Amino acid sequence: MLSNTPLSNSNIPKEIFKAYDIRGIVGKTLTPAIVEAIGHALGSEAAARKQKTICIGYDGRLSGPELASALSSGIRKAGIDVINLGLVATPVVYFAAYHLKTDCGVMVTGSHNPPDYNGLKMVLAGETLSGETIQALRQRIENNDLNTDESVGEGTERSYHIDDEYIAKISSHIKLARPMKIAVDCGNGVAGAFAKKLYEALNCEVEELFCEVDGNFPNHHPDPSVPENLTDLINALKKGNAEIGLAFDGDGDRLGVVTKDGNIIYPDRQLLLFAEDVLKREPGATIIYDVKSTRNLAPWISAHGGNPLMWKTGHSLVKGKMKETGAALAGEMSGHTFFKERWYGFDDGLYAGARLLEILSRYDDPSVVLNALPDSVSTPEQHIQMQEGEPHALIAKLQQTAIFENADVLTIDGLRVEYADGFGLMRPSNTTPVIVLRFEADNAEALKRIQDCFRAVILAAAPEAKLPF
Ligand SMILES: [Zn+2]
Repeated sequence: MLSNTPLSNSNIPKEIFKAYDIRGIVGKTLTPAIVEAIGHALGSEAAARKQKTICIGYDGRLSGPELASALSSGIRKAGIDVINLGLVATPVVYFAAYHLKTDCGVMVTGSHNPPDYNGLKMVLAGETLSGETIQALRQRIENNDLNTDESVGEGTERSYHIDDEYIAKISSHIKLARPMKIAVDCGNGVAGAFAKKLYEALNCEVEELFCEVDGNFPNHHPDPSVPENLTDLINALKKGNAEIGLAFDGDGDRLGVVTKDGNIIYPDRQLLLFAEDVLKREPGATIIYDVKSTRNLAPWISAHGGNPLMWKTGHSLVKGKMKETGAALAGEMSGHTFFKERWYGFDDGLYAGARLLEILSRYDDPSVVLNALPDSVSTPEQHIQMQEGEPHALIAKLQQTAIFENADVLTIDGLRVEYADGFGLMRPSNTTPVIVLRFEADNAEALKRIQDCFRAVILAAAPEAKLPF
């Protein structure tokens, strides 16, 4: 049992209301009482937006069922009905919001965070909550601005098993050109409850790694953006007869890809392939990628008849920009890929895997296709640790004052400095007090030169900064 001390509206922890979701440590900053209060605020906000029903689900974390039950109780207090989907991947909740026409979904998930974390990802009236709309929930609780009108009565809850409909919807429109042999690594996250069934429905033979859902994550952490977490999958591909490896994060909204010969195809390179495919059916479509992504995307998308658009990092910001521009496809370096063409436009790692297999099944050797995608010398995402508030202040200052010779400086999100032969990025993270960096160039020499420019600029403004390059 988790501690469930009575909650006064004034002592709800502020720090759990993040830029893109709610996230806290179970039993400390995230208790059933706190989640119930958030549910009450969510239900009240949903009622204010003339909504009637919210779909909820939870990932494989041990605290999932209890927190989902508290969430449901809070939502129902506001007179809103709940459809409980049970143990599902995050994209399955998004799918349910469309498929069951509730327009509202809340997922209890700690995504890729350690086992003692959990949190909420929220969609109300078709809008992914972020930034100010998440803060507005906190203010509702603090101001006791909660729906208590007894006349509306308490909402109802019913269970709904949507898994088969989700898989049927995907397999109704995604057809592989030939059967494939694949390996999937779910890192004991909730994608494990879906991957085998889904890809078998697409005519794949599936070799499973760590597909038993286990909230202790006893093998490796379910985060395919960290290369070490793909070691088991790489070894399985070497030893076994699978042609391609797919890996998922803890809640199934991000995809990792490994070739037969052990190369990791990072999400921005996956997007090259997805873009080419989408543009065959939707010439002229807008395709969005975040500021961390490879600069190979813009010329590639243009050459394939599309309209490339770089945007800020953050899944809710990307979704907002997609709606605004009518984009057919979007992707983030973190592994969130959003298909609007033939799908609903939310980030779905399981679905992205299906789309990847559909493309690769047209070829004899998937590795040849993937390895042939344009590539550059690049660094992974790197961080400069700072105190709370410092990253945004420093980057704002550098946006005004920093001088980079022979480069274009883009200030969409932090500073992305584009040279003829590479780019460097620094931006303040919206979730933790760090500056995020990434570098890419045509060769190692150019990469070093760009890093030297960044080092000089950062150390001139913040001499104490500990640089990771
Ligand atoms: Zn995730």
